[in-house]
Amino acid sequence: MVIFTKLKITTLPELPEVQTTVNGINKKLKGLRIVDIWTDYPARHYDNPQWQNSEKISSRQIKNKHFFNYFKKNIVGKKITGAERRAKNVLIHLSANKTPSKTTKGRCETILIHMKMTGHLLFGKYEKVNTKTKNLKPKTTKWVAQEPGPLRDDSFNQFIHLVFSLSNGKHLVLSDMRKFAKVLLIENFGLNTSSELSHLGPEPLTSNFSLKVLKERLNKKPNWPIKSALMDQTLISGIGNIYSDEILWASNIHPLRKVEDLKTSQFIKILVNTKLILKKGIDFKGDSMSDYRNIDGRRGRFQNEHQAYRRTGKPCTKKRCPGTIKRTGVRGRNAHFCSTHQK
Ligand SMILES: [Zn+2]
Repeated sequence: MVIFTKLKITTLPELPEVQTTVNGINKKLKGLRIVDIWTDYPARHYDNPQWQNSEKISSRQIKNKHFFNYFKKNIVGKKITGAERRAKNVLIHLSANKTPSKTTKGRCETILIHMKMTGHLLFGKYEKVNTKTKNLKPKTTKWVAQEPGPLRDDSFNQFIHLVFSLSNGKHLVLSDMRKFAKVLLIENFGLNTSSELSHLGPEPLTSNFSLKVLKERLNKKPNWPIKSALMDQTLISGIGNIYSDEILWASNIHPLRKVEDLKTSQFIKILVNTKLILKKGIDFKGDSMSDYRNIDGRRGRFQNEHQAYRRTGKPCTKKRCPGTIKRTGVRGRNAHFCSTHQK
C-alpha cells in the first residue's frame, strides 16, 4: 500500500547520495548487458498536450518518445562498463557500439541520469504486472519487486517509471514519485562539453580542490550569502540544502554572511568541513530524511547526524553553546543555523 504524504519535504539528492548510488552500480552491475528497456515517462508526459510544447521537456531526454526510441535502439545489447558521478549526475558508461556503420562503429556512449527531487535508482528482481484501475480505465503496468525486503515494502521505492532489464535476469529501475528525473544519452567524446556538464564547478572531494580553488570559486559571487554560493553548482559541484547547512554549522559561519566578508581563516574552515562532511555523508550511505534510498532500496543514515538541517527549535549540540537552531530564508531556500555560535 502506497501512502502519500502531502506535506512531505523533499530534498534533492546531493553529492553523498549520488556517490552512494554510483558505488552500488559499480559493485553490482559492472559487466551486465542491457537486454531491454521500458518506461511510462513518454506516455505520462510527452503525450499530454500540456507538456508537449513545454520547455520542461528537452528533445534529448527520454520523456520525448522520439528520443526514447533512439535511446532504446542505442543501448539495448550494450554492456555496463562502470559508473561515475559528476556533481549530482549519475553517469553509466556503456560498451562500444558494434554496428557495422563506419560512422558509429566503436562509438562509446554514457547514460546520464539526474535524479532530481524524488528519483533514485534501484537494483533487484522485478516482474511486470498489468492492473486494472478502479474506474475501469485502460489497464496500467506496474513493476513489482519479487523478493521480500525494502524494494517491495518501502513505499518510497514503488514509483517505478523506467526499467532496464539486465542479462542476469535482474533490473535497474528508477523510482521517481514526482517524475522530475532526467535521463539522456551522450557520446563519451562530448560528455564534458555537453550542456549538462560543461557549466559545473569543480568537485570538492578531489585533491586539487584547494583553498585557492575554493576562494576563487566562491568569490565569483562576492555579494551572495555564503549558503547560496556553496549551493551554486556552477561554483562548486554537489552541495545542496542539507550539506550546506551542516558545513556552515560546523564552520561557525552564519548562512547569510556575504562571501566578500569572509576571512581566510573562515574559508579554511569551510574547505575542511566541506571535505569532512561530504565524506561522512558517503560513509553513512547518504541522507534518507527525504526520498533517497540506495540501489538495494535501503535508507542511508546521515539524517541521524544532522546538527542543523531541519532541527529548528532544538538546542545547539556544539560544545558549550547555549544556542538554539533557527530557520531563515536565503534566496528562496531555508537555512537552518545556530544564531549563537554562527557569526
Ligand atoms: Zn550553537
